[in-house]
Amino acid sequence: MCIFCDIINKQIPSKVVYEDDDVIAILDIAQVTLGHTLVMPKKHVENILEVDEDTMGKVSKVVHHLAKQIVTKTEAVGCNILNNCGEVAGQTVNHLHFHIIPRYGEDDAISLRFYPSEELDLDEVLEKVK
Ligand code: AMP
Ligand code: ZN
Repeated sequence: MCIFCDIINKQIPSKVVYEDDDVIAILDIAQVTLGHTLVMPKKHVENILEVDEDTMGKVSKVVHHLAKQIVTKTEAVGCNILNNCGEVAGQTVNHLHFHIIPRYGEDDAISLRFYPSEELDLDEVLEKVK
C-alpha cells in the first residue's frame, strides 16, 4: 500500500503538473511555498538508493524541466530541489520523489541550515567516500 502509487493509479485525486509514461509530477498537498511540486517515477521504487539508472535519468530530466518552468511561471527567484532518502533524512512516503520548492525570499516558509563538522579531516573523508 503506497499513497503515491494510489495517486499514480488515480485512486486518490491529485493536481497533476506533468505526466508521461514513466514520470508524474503533482502539487504537494502541503504547499511549503506556492508551486511546491513532487516529481516521481510511476514505477514504485522506495528511494534513490534503490532506483535504476534509466528511471533516475527520466525523473531527473523532468525535475530539470519543471524547475525552470515553475520558477519562471511563479516568478520565484530560485528554488530548492530536495530528496529525503530514508526515515533519518525525513522521508515520510517511501516512494521516491523529488521536491521542487520555489523560493521567493529569505523570509519565505523554508529554512535550510547546515552545521559543518569542523573536526573532520578532508583527506580521511575522501578515503572513506571514494
Ligand atoms: P517526504 O517527507 O520527503 O517523504 O515528503 C512527502 C510529501 O508528500 C510531503 O511534503 C507531503 O505533504 C506530501 N503528500 C502526502 N500526501 C500527499 C497527497 N495525497 N498529495 C500530495 N502530496 C502529498
Ligand atoms: Zn508507490
